Amino acid sequence: MKYVDEFRDPELTAHLLHELKAASTRPFRVMEVCGTHTMAIFRSGLRALLLPEIELISGPGCPVCVTSASHIDAFLQMAELPETRLAIFGDLFRVPGSKGATLAHAHAQGAKIDIVYSSMDGLELARRNPAEMVVFPGIGFETTSPGLAATIMAARQQNIDNFAVFSTHKTMLPPLMALLGDPRLRIDGLLCPGHVSSIIGAAAYQPLAEQNHLACVIGGFEPTDILQALILMAKQINEGRAEVENGYTRAVTWEGNGRARALVATVFKPVDMEWRGLGMIEGSGLAIREEYAGFDAQSRLSIPLPESKEPPGCLCGQILKGITAPPACPLFGKGCTPATPIGPCMVSSEGTCAAYFTYGNYSR
Ligand code: SF4
Repeated sequence: MKYVDEFRDPELTAHLLHELKAASTRPFRVMEVCGTHTMAIFRSGLRALLLPEIELISGPGCPVCVTSASHIDAFLQMAELPETRLAIFGDLFRVPGSKGATLAHAHAQGAKIDIVYSSMDGLELARRNPAEMVVFPGIGFETTSPGLAATIMAARQQNIDNFAVFSTHKTMLPPLMALLGDPRLRIDGLLCPGHVSSIIGAAAYQPLAEQNHLACVIGGFEPTDILQALILMAKQINEGRAEVENGYTRAVTWEGNGRARALVATVFKPVDMEWRGLGMIEGSGLAIREEYAGFDAQSRLSIPLPESKEPPGCLCGQILKGITAPPACPLFGKGCTPATPIGPCMVSSEGTCAAYFTYGNYSR
């Protein structure tokens, strides 16, 4: 496939691996912020080739995994309302709420739940089902919030008033700032997510690099992208530099996408947001502005937010903070597998537990 195969070329990958080993004059620890990176590193086999010189730990960048149990409980409450249909991303289907129930259970008991690929699909569902309220649970980061803002604006323009969004949307920099203050983390560099960075721009990481003396390198998601980013990081670490470098220039600029950010600012305002495992983080969420309140499911349907309770024994919170790896969880591969997930990190296609189990030779 053009524009993909070039970045998976085995010879180029081997060459870059050789270059990375030469550049790595001492072992170092890297947090890959994003679940897409975690999965890509496991799936491509890079993780096994990089160890032990480069220790990779996963961060809080899996949108389904960081959705709090109380938000899942709220989605379950909405699914039980009459004349209501939920339009969800597929990964949400099996994520347990505080009492272990999932949207899959609700669906089996008759709730109307459709799996969609975008918020615009949810709007189309509302158009085709005028007698129902279609609610789209908004999860994700800067990558998906511009599309969600555009969908809400389209709903207004097209006078579709049976469509609403329950926003749990989050922004990536506040949790990273919070996590980097934890002395248990001890990382030398951040592998920054290419897709989020295409919106916020490379410049957004400058405070993280400066305040934490951290090498911040933006990387794409193919094997050669990841290796190229790690080579830049190894060189910084060896030279004692702590800078923002862009290893994904075909998608990310220094300034990012100002038009997408303006769209988000038109529809959303920053609020404090609860993250699974990380708790409430100031200014890390996006709520719908008063001007668009007619599309805000939380206020329109008066959905209360119960207190979050994690599944007993699940260590997702520690895994999302980067201070524990999945094999340390007593339930990993025993009670908890991708077929029988207990926590969201085993459910999501970007979850760290799912990546370890699927590609880490633990399933055998
Ligand atoms: S293995 Fe399962 S129970 Fe343990 S942390 Fe991961 S998702 Fe939670």
